[in-house]
Amino acid sequence: MYLRNLAFQADKYKSMKIDTRKTKECQFCAEIIQAKAIKCRYCGEYQNTNKAVALRRRESADEEVEQEQEGTDDILFEAGPSLLGMLGFAIKAMLLACIGVLLLASPIANLIKNLTQKLLNYQLSDNIYNAIVNYKMVLGLGLIIFALLLILWKVIKLKTVHYQVSVDRIEYSRGIFDRRVDNIDMFRVIDLKMRRSLIDCILGIGSIGLITNDKTDPEFEFEKIKDSRKLYDIIKNASLEADAARGVIHLE
Ligand SMILES: [Zn+2]
Repeated sequence: MYLRNLAFQADKYKSMKIDTRKTKECQFCAEIIQAKAIKCRYCGEYQNTNKAVALRRRESADEEVEQEQEGTDDILFEAGPSLLGMLGFAIKAMLLACIGVLLLASPIANLIKNLTQKLLNYQLSDNIYNAIVNYKMVLGLGLIIFALLLILWKVIKLKTVHYQVSVDRIEYSRGIFDRRVDNIDMFRVIDLKMRRSLIDCILGIGSIGLITNDKTDPEFEFEKIKDSRKLYDIIKNASLEADAARGVIHLE
C-alpha cells in the first residue's frame, strides 16, 4: 500500500516536471502560458516577433550577470590577530626568562655552603656543592628556554589565525597541524561587541565578540586586531543587510 502510494507520488512528480517544461512565461505580461503558444492567451501578444525574442535574450543576459555577481563574493575585510596583542603575554614570559637569568647569576651554591657551615656547623661536601651548581644551571637555562618557546609558540599560533569577512559570511581558519576552516553566515549574527582594554587602546588594537545562533560557534571572537573599529562597522552593516535580505528578525 505504502509502495503504491510512493509510486503514485513519483508519477505525480514526474508529470509536474513535464508540465513546467511545457510552459513558459509570456515576455509581455509574465503570465504562464504553453511553451508552444505563439500568441499569449492573456495579453494577446505574439511570442515569435523580433521584439519578443529581443526581450527574452535580454532577460537571460541579466540572469547571467546576476549569477556572476553572486559568485564573486566580495571580501570586505581580511586580517589576522596583531602581534601587539600578545604584548602582555610576552612581558610575562620575559619575566620568567629574567628569573632564569638571575638564577644563573646568583651565588646560590656558595650561599648554601656558607649557611650550613655557620648555622649547622656542617662542611658541605664538594659533591653536593657541585650538584647544587648543576641544578642551578639546568633550572636557569630551562626557564629561559621555556619562556622563549612559549613566546615562539604564541607567535606561530597567532600568525595561523586568519579572518575573512565577506558580504554574506565570516570565514576563519586556525590551527597549526590540523588546520580548521569554519564559517558563520552573516544572517546568524545576533549581536556584536567591541572589547578594548586600556593597553589595547594605546596599541591601537581591539577585540570584537560576536553572539550568533550558529550551532558550532554561538560565541566567536576576533582576537586583538588592528582596525577593529572598521571591522565593527563592516560587520554591523553586513549583518543588518543580511537580516533585511532574509527577513530575519532576531528576538532579544
Ligand atoms: Zn501575455
